[in-house]
Amino acid sequence: MKVLLLGGTGEARALAALLTDVDVVSSLAGRTKDLRLPPGEVRVGGFGGVDGLTRWLQENRVDAVIDATHPFAATMTEHAVAATRAVGVPLLVLRRPGWVAGPGDDWHWAETADDAAELLPSLGARVFLTIGRQGLETFANTGLWTLARCVDPPEPAPTWCTLLLDRGPYDVAGELDLLRRHRIDVLVTKDSGGPQTEAKLTAARELRLPVILIHRPAAPLGVPVVETPAAAAAWLQTL
Ligand code: NAP
Repeated sequence: MKVLLLGGTGEARALAALLTDVDVVSSLAGRTKDLRLPPGEVRVGGFGGVDGLTRWLQENRVDAVIDATHPFAATMTEHAVAATRAVGVPLLVLRRPGWVAGPGDDWHWAETADDAAELLPSLGARVFLTIGRQGLETFANTGLWTLARCVDPPEPAPTWCTLLLDRGPYDVAGELDLLRRHRIDVLVTKDSGGPQTEAKLTAARELRLPVILIHRPAAPLGVPVVETPAAAAAWLQTL
């Protein structure tokens, strides 16, 4: 059985490590400079839209596709749905659950990054923006002091915010120190979910800071979705 595993997440790497008895090709977009490679065969770069992915699935005689991309990688997921339907290959989406507010959290949900930018001035004046480098410009005109944390530098480099280049996982002590040092009074994040970047939410709770969370795109309709690499491996067994 040949499986295409669309990756770029810790869950995709964990799943690649689990699937030792199947022929798996992991696929990475290749955006980050320092790629975290999963075990096994890896291909890097876009497929060239739905048509390119459809051709790739046919040429490589793929039997199943697992989309383990980041919950916000909506275009890749859309393309995977369309291409697997075109060639009649089963598709599974592996998506870690979103974050859930607990006691003491002051969370404000925004449908989009634009909504988050509009809401921001009512919640604070010194912003910690942790949405990655895509979509940063949406926050360029808030007029608020902003610290933006990204893995790789955005191009062109923004002049309106202070950039912090760093890569998780982060711990609570480090996040508390960062929030205090920069006198942050509001945090903005996407609802990525997962433990790797969760420490900022714990730190915000401890400091009683408001947090704006941007909703993740809806999961595709009519496609099975699981939350863990183990459940994705079990789905493959059923094929
Ligand atoms: P996206 O907007 O959904 O996809 C844009 C295009 O990038 C796709 O149409 C595809 O190009 C290419 N692409 C995306 N994922 C790919 C993959 N795994 N293998 C091959 N090509 C891929 O994706 P994105 O949000 O930019 O994310 C890019 C990668 O970074 C994904 O692998 C994702 O898992 C990872 N990532 C994303 C985020 C995030 O917040 N969005 C966070 C952490 C990691 P073609 O149309 O040419 O095929």
